Amino acid sequence: NTFAEIDLGDALNQNIRRCKYVKPTPVQRNAIPISLAGRDLMACAQTGSGKTAAFCFPIISGIMTGQSVQKPPRGARTVYPLALILSPTRELSMQIHEEARKFSYQTGVRVVVAYGGAPISQQLRELERGVDILVATPGRLVDLLERARVSLQMIRYLALDEADRMLDMGFEPQIRKIVEQMDMPRPGARQTMLFSATFPKEIQRLASDFLSNYIFLAV
Ligand code: AMP
Repeated sequence: NTFAEIDLGDALNQNIRRCKYVKPTPVQRNAIPISLAGRDLMACAQTGSGKTAAFCFPIISGIMTGQSVQKPPRGARTVYPLALILSPTRELSMQIHEEARKFSYQTGVRVVVAYGGAPISQQLRELERGVDILVATPGRLVDLLERARVSLQMIRYLALDEADRMLDMGFEPQIRKIVEQMDMPRPGARQTMLFSATFPKEIQRLASDFLSNYIFLAV
């Protein structure tokens, strides 16, 4: 019933202590081992449940222990993140980015955020410095893909946060376009986590389209 019992590695455990997280929340206790075991996951989670850590910890841990990928050549304009976290709004993206940065402190894992409603130039500069985990809103990410500034061909982890809200906001076409680009090179090569507060038919359809052999978690 402590984070130390979950095998997240020393660096991440140290950051968890720095954040003063003592006990995993129910969604963390259940979701993290499933994701660490490599399974796809659809989880029912409300705001305040600790869902951000539930999808960030396995991603950071997986990137730290996984094979390192070749860095793109210096001056290359296209970047190849290893993990993508999609979120509905600029505010939520900023929050996830802030938390993910604390969790990845001194791990060598770099987190960058890109959202709409703000100039793209500064986000491009951040991306150019390299990115392991990209936190993005769907519209801004489609823009970056169309400019060929981001490629999703190396994505190993996909997390969809507040999926029901993203659908309510009309982001389904963008989300499908984004996931299509990940599937092109190597279908099934990614691990996917879908978080949603509600499970209407549209979310169930998204889950059956994007997840494979997934575990459903309701806490
Ligand atoms: P979230 O649901 O991810 O937005 O998290 C809600 C709040 O709970 C955030 O302020 C987190 O930093 C905090 N939090 C998440 N997990 C834990 C934990 N295991 N122990 C204490 N606080 C936590």
